Amino acid sequence: MTTALNLDLWLGVLQIIEQKLQRGQFITWFKDTTVLGREEATVVIGLPLPMFLNWHLEHYRSMTLEALREVDPTIEQIVYQVDTGLKDDHARTLRLLEHFPEKKPRKVPNKSEVRIAEGLTSKMANSRYTLDNFVVGPNNRLAHAACSAVASDPGGKYNPLFLYGGVGLGKTHLLQATGNAILKTLPNAAILYTTTEEFTNQVIEAIQHQKMEQFRRRYREVDVFILDDVQFLANKERTQEELFHTFNTLIEDRKQIIISSDRPPKELSGLQDRLVSRFERGMIADVSEPDYETRHAILSEKSKEYGLLLDQKVIDYIAQYATRSVRQLEGILMQAVAQYELEHCVPTVKSIAEIMRKLGDEPARLQEDEVGFIAPSPHAISFQDVLEEVSRYYSISVPDILGQSRVREVLVPRHIAMYIGKTHLRMSYVNLGESFSHRDHTTVMHAVRKITSKMIEDPQLMREIRTLEKEVGLVTQR
Ligand code: ADP
Ligand code: MG
Repeated sequence: MTTALNLDLWLGVLQIIEQKLQRGQFITWFKDTTVLGREEATVVIGLPLPMFLNWHLEHYRSMTLEALREVDPTIEQIVYQVDTGLKDDHARTLRLLEHFPEKKPRKVPNKSEVRIAEGLTSKMANSRYTLDNFVVGPNNRLAHAACSAVASDPGGKYNPLFLYGGVGLGKTHLLQATGNAILKTLPNAAILYTTTEEFTNQVIEAIQHQKMEQFRRRYREVDVFILDDVQFLANKERTQEELFHTFNTLIEDRKQIIISSDRPPKELSGLQDRLVSRFERGMIADVSEPDYETRHAILSEKSKEYGLLLDQKVIDYIAQYATRSVRQLEGILMQAVAQYELEHCVPTVKSIAEIMRKLGDEPARLQEDEVGFIAPSPHAISFQDVLEEVSRYYSISVPDILGQSRVREVLVPRHIAMYIGKTHLRMSYVNLGESFSHRDHTTVMHAVRKITSKMIEDPQLMREIRTLEKEVGLVTQR
């Protein structure tokens, strides 16, 4: 029984764990968890889904035990128990989003804001973008190397740095990551990231309010000027004019300029020649579409970031068909995370194909042989599969498991099969009783309870059941 005391204990534990995990991981893996009970020094932790079990055992077990001990030093061990009834059962679990509301995004250090004159705040706010979490492949190696070089020597050899490439291929990521990297080594540097659209609006506003001098002074005070998507400067004569002068002043003062565009400088139509020739004076690097291997690496990296457990086959499938951009890969992953969080639907090749269809990214064709490549979903597992696995594992025939014999060698596997049928496949006691030689439903109920409480005391039994769950495919393997 979950008591208020247990919930208090669990809240204390979660407060410690929350500090150590990324928010996405914390919410994904600790939502609907609880302390189910406690027997002296052993705490039983409830998990809402079979697929949580492996993940917790592999990644969070020692962290959880440590946190428990911090709250109550008399605790010595933990055991896990899957209880699918925990999902959204707020009598027994904590409302995680209420107890741990999202914090405001971190602001850039105030110093750099102060150094930039009033009315113009530094926009390196997206600290999520770093040079380290950018996956490097043949398609972006040069661009990444150039950004790293600029980060360690701003205003040096590569000035200006001009990055170009199609939509969703990582330009903004690299731009902001470079700014973040510089800010890390030079916390007092005034770094300004702005989109061309914003820059244009500022020019218009300055003209309207006759504050041109002020505008110029502000922009010419920065140490690093990052301008995203300059293709939008096309035919904006006055903005180009202002940029040209800002550009010259900054370069003269050996301040770093970083620019991005969807095409190389030469192909920028509607831009003054003198501006284009300035863009070409430093380093030019392109980003193109990632190849299969790079897409694979990006997917593994991002799914880890989101705390989503993805089957290798699912990653293979997305990497094979989502070829357009990194943003497309991210879009698919986000949908999968949402489905997983809302419906507890474990991503399979089939569900991903469905997501891609909905996003309008229909894979070329889902070939026949790929149907065999669909990862097993918990919902497709039948009780017959469970019986066969138990039979193989304990070397006892299926008829014996289902039969009347009461020798111990048969009894335990029989009870385990009942337990799995009940907790994972959600069969009713009545149906289970019918399957086992028309036993009464109370007999099954008793057996399931017995296994549940024995698991807590008997780590060997726990291990056997876990192995079986894995073998049957109830716990996603990595
Ligand atoms: P662009 O500015 O070129 O349109 P973005 O920089 O906005 O593209 O990239 C789209 C998304 O893809 C971002 O969330 C970014 O973090 C991610 N992304 C792109 N390339 C990579 C990469 N090589 N490694 C990791 N994430 C990437
Ligand atoms: Mg961009």
